[in-house]
Amino acid sequence: MENGGLQDRLEMIKSKLADACGRSGRNESDVEIVAVAKGVGYEAVDEAVAAGIGIIGENRIQEAAQKIPLCTGRVEWHMIGHLQSNKVRNAVGLFSMIHSVDSLKILRLINEACVEEGRTMPVCLEVNVSGEASKQGFAPVEVPAVLEQCRGLMNVDVLGLMTIPPFTEDPEGVRPYFRKLRELRDEWSASSGFELGGLSMGMSNDFEVAIEEGATWVRLGRLLFGRRNGC
Ligand SMILES: *Cc1c(COP(=O)(O)O)cnc(C)c1O
Repeated sequence: MENGGLQDRLEMIKSKLADACGRSGRNESDVEIVAVAKGVGYEAVDEAVAAGIGIIGENRIQEAAQKIPLCTGRVEWHMIGHLQSNKVRNAVGLFSMIHSVDSLKILRLINEACVEEGRTMPVCLEVNVSGEASKQGFAPVEVPAVLEQCRGLMNVDVLGLMTIPPFTEDPEGVRPYFRKLRELRDEWSASSGFELGGLSMGMSNDFEVAIEEGATWVRLGRLLFGRRNGC
């Protein structure tokens, strides 16, 4: 993995992505790579964008705020980490999508900030499928009521669901969590009338399994950028 440059790693990722789509009868064009740039400098981000990456993911507002003005490539920036209330306004200014909405309070604040800015924010609701206490996200039982509340929030556009499964050595160990998120998505799309087409799931160690289970965004950090500094 440390051999070769970013371009080679991206080629390797794309070929695995294509194989996973082939195995599951999906279209490659339905899966987007979110290049997770936490701990990675702007030079590497520009290199990734030059190599064809169209979306950069960040999980800390402060790091993103410093990096975004330095990057010259044309690219979308997506927030993928836990948002604090007092950072929502910043996030709305910096990002074109938020994958990690984990409370109704944050959803309302995003809506408010977007009303003021005269824009709409595409979001995913983060779901804690495993129920681990250490994980952010809505408990599955909460989500139908949250979707009801979303009807009144005209400036957020709920595109789908996001999850982070428990860590396992074997990527097959997380398949049930990805599958569950897809099943919940299908169930809630039918019951709420929201078109929850998007599934943000899968990271460096398990993205192929996530694609087989329906991921539409895979969030890849280490596999694309190599080792991170201090994260
Ligand atoms: C860091 C991070 C990723 C990427 O993780 P890798 O294992 O480096 O691919 C994906 N999603 C979130 C929310 C992250 O914080």
